Amino acid sequence: MTPADGHDRTPQRPDDERPDADDLRLKSPRESADSLGAMTTLTMPETNAKTESPALETPFVSVALPLGVDHTFTYGLPERLRGQIRPGQRVRVPFGVGNRSAVGWVVGGLTESDLAAGKIKAIIEPVDAGPLMTPDLLDLATWMSRYYVTPIGQVLEAVLPAAVKRNAGFKTVQLVVRTDKPESEVERILSKQRRVLDRLAEAAGTPASPRELARQAGCTVAVIKSLEAKGLVRIETREVEEFARDHFIGLEEPKAVHLTAEQALALQRVKNQIAADRFGVILLQGVTGSGKTEVYLRAIEDVVDGGRQAIVLVPEIALTPQTIRRFRERFAHVAVLHSNLSDVERHRQWRDIAEGRADVVIGARSAVFAPVQDLGLIVIDEEHENSFKQDTAPRYHARDVAIMRANLVGAPIVLGSATPSLESYRNVRTLGHYQEARLTQRIGGRPMPPVHIIDMRQEAVERKGQHSLSRALEKAIAEAWRKQEQTILFLNRRGFSTHLFCIKCGHVARCPDCDVGLTYHAKPGVLQCHYCGHRAPPPEVCPACGAETINYWGTGTQRVEEEVQRKFPDVRLGRMDADSMRKRGGHESILAAFRDGEVDILLGTQMVAKGLDFPNVTVVGVINADVALSLPDFRANERTFQLITQVAGRTGRGPKGGEVFVQTFQPEHLTIQMASRHDYEAFAADELQTRQRRGYPPFGRLARIIIRSQSRQKAHEAIQAMAGRLFEPTRVAGITVLGPQPCPIAKLSRFWRYHILLKAPSARALLHFWDSIRSDLTPPGNIQMAIDVDPQSTL
Ligand code: ADP
Ligand code: ZN
Repeated sequence: MTPADGHDRTPQRPDDERPDADDLRLKSPRESADSLGAMTTLTMPETNAKTESPALETPFVSVALPLGVDHTFTYGLPERLRGQIRPGQRVRVPFGVGNRSAVGWVVGGLTESDLAAGKIKAIIEPVDAGPLMTPDLLDLATWMSRYYVTPIGQVLEAVLPAAVKRNAGFKTVQLVVRTDKPESEVERILSKQRRVLDRLAEAAGTPASPRELARQAGCTVAVIKSLEAKGLVRIETREVEEFARDHFIGLEEPKAVHLTAEQALALQRVKNQIAADRFGVILLQGVTGSGKTEVYLRAIEDVVDGGRQAIVLVPEIALTPQTIRRFRERFAHVAVLHSNLSDVERHRQWRDIAEGRADVVIGARSAVFAPVQDLGLIVIDEEHENSFKQDTAPRYHARDVAIMRANLVGAPIVLGSATPSLESYRNVRTLGHYQEARLTQRIGGRPMPPVHIIDMRQEAVERKGQHSLSRALEKAIAEAWRKQEQTILFLNRRGFSTHLFCIKCGHVARCPDCDVGLTYHAKPGVLQCHYCGHRAPPPEVCPACGAETINYWGTGTQRVEEEVQRKFPDVRLGRMDADSMRKRGGHESILAAFRDGEVDILLGTQMVAKGLDFPNVTVVGVINADVALSLPDFRANERTFQLITQVAGRTGRGPKGGEVFVQTFQPEHLTIQMASRHDYEAFAADELQTRQRRGYPPFGRLARIIIRSQSRQKAHEAIQAMAGRLFEPTRVAGITVLGPQPCPIAKLSRFWRYHILLKAPSARALLHFWDSIRSDLTPPGNIQMAIDVDPQSTL
């Protein structure tokens, strides 16, 4: 297998597939390891995440190199390094011609080698003082390599943050120190050497580098080296931090909260599992505002009191100051991992975690790899979120990886959601793999907000002009504003208009590099490709027919912003989308202004739909519910239901109550109807039937092989060859092969794309299929290949 590309970012789509809990249990690290090495057979040490793995004494070790090759390499472990190196440690090894070397990861020891004795090269030196991976992380990486069909070296590179690899914020210095050896044991001390020793004695306590010391003593570094040779001084390498350390701060005394009966019951279920000290998945299904976070906090308290650590994963956009504050109020040592950290900050947080200074780690997707030593609990909030899936290799789903990690260390894991993914729901209800805890009531007995479905067809008939706000929503906004209450408006499209077309000839402005239309952005007045970022000035006449009939069509956040400002000139509006959030901290400052009542209407994309808890929000408007519904994806209904529920959940959180307005051109659509009644159970039952009928997840698994090339011809030939080679009838038992065919977005960032879709009856069947073809997964040179297991998008 050649490097999986890592650049084929396809658009975010809902997807919540994962291996069955059942399948997860089957795959012990040992089994995964056995099937891994094409060149070497791994001997995985018996590991217990709660201890370090033993140092290796074997004559050989297998080393993973971050080259994208799908096997490990055998190296000799020289006598002097036996007992010095542990699995998960980085080492420098000879690689390539001449004196070239590379840094790789020791994944295990080998008692024998399949290579001729003379051909085996030895490890040069360790790179770090010890392993940078806990044993469970190494096992986890091994499993990911197999499940996500990604070379182990590439997985390990993803598990360890680049900032840690670069040692950001730390530097190593050399310091000269006097040894214990008495001067009397040395034959002769030259005068220059004398000056150095005197200088050392004076400066005891503040050691200097060889160069600095030589300068002070008025000699050359060679003199210091000569003293070293005599055994009188030693040159030590030390690591020092370049910047002062941040201190953890516990902010406030937590306010005393009495759990509701439902919360207490849910908490007890989690605590029982913690007490049992065993792997187990608990699905905490609680309506928005039912106090799920409080249950997480209490459960984590239990774990921390027991001297263990917890990891909390939340979607990136839910990683708001508000969320972080709730954890900091409760725990003194909280490490936060989000995408806005600088390298130095990230490295420091990582060290705090690895060295046991953090009790709780809260972060987005990659926090699942936090190097905690004694993991007692994992919490995944909003477990249905598709942002837990990574869209570059390794294309892992953090929730599924988290379940596997919990399994490896024998810890409980809590999945929380108001709208669980159908996969998790089925694992509870039908399969009984997960335990269940439910919160059916909002805190304080507050009712769920009424949801009004607004028929936009009727609006179009009864009103003149183009309006993105219906009359009912307009009226509600005005009313809320008069009462100094707040509004959240949600629209899943940024930009101003979603496409630009010529009324005369139908020409649509498209990206030259991608097979998609361009979006018009009024500020700063450009056409932009949302996939590759290509920008172009908007044409004044149609480039195809020359007519001056270019029309802007479709509604984006910028257009709604303009309309709101026109209709309510005095209202203070904050827009939150990928465009307005580009600068660091932009997110935080708008949310802070909204919280402090300096902004009346918060308008935005997904960012405003998640996790916000503002009691003064009494109106929520979904500008166009049809956007999600019309996605060409079998998860469109699920995604729509989740979105409406989440957005609706932002209101009615205080004593003033709240109302929701869902604008749609399909008011009779079942998904919209059920979402407006907050009826998750009915939705899930209906949707599961449809999925089963069509053989889609959670009934079976999907995977995708994508081939990309700048040459359309070559991409096409490569996928045909691949299909021919891979899918001999004997190999595809139980696997349905769809394609090959061009991807729905046939061209992306100048690359032509073809794919093969695989439908498997179970995760296990898919895994066995990959195992059997893995060594054949090699596209011709110059052709890129990506494999996506449990894809969140098939575009
Ligand atoms: P969810 O995560 O389920 O949407 P939250 O955990 O955000 O709900 O809780 C909603 C609000 O209710 C928060 O402001 C929280 O502090 C508060 N809350 C949670 N549990 C209780 C309780 N038992 N008593 C009073 N307030 C509570
Ligand atoms: Zn493009």
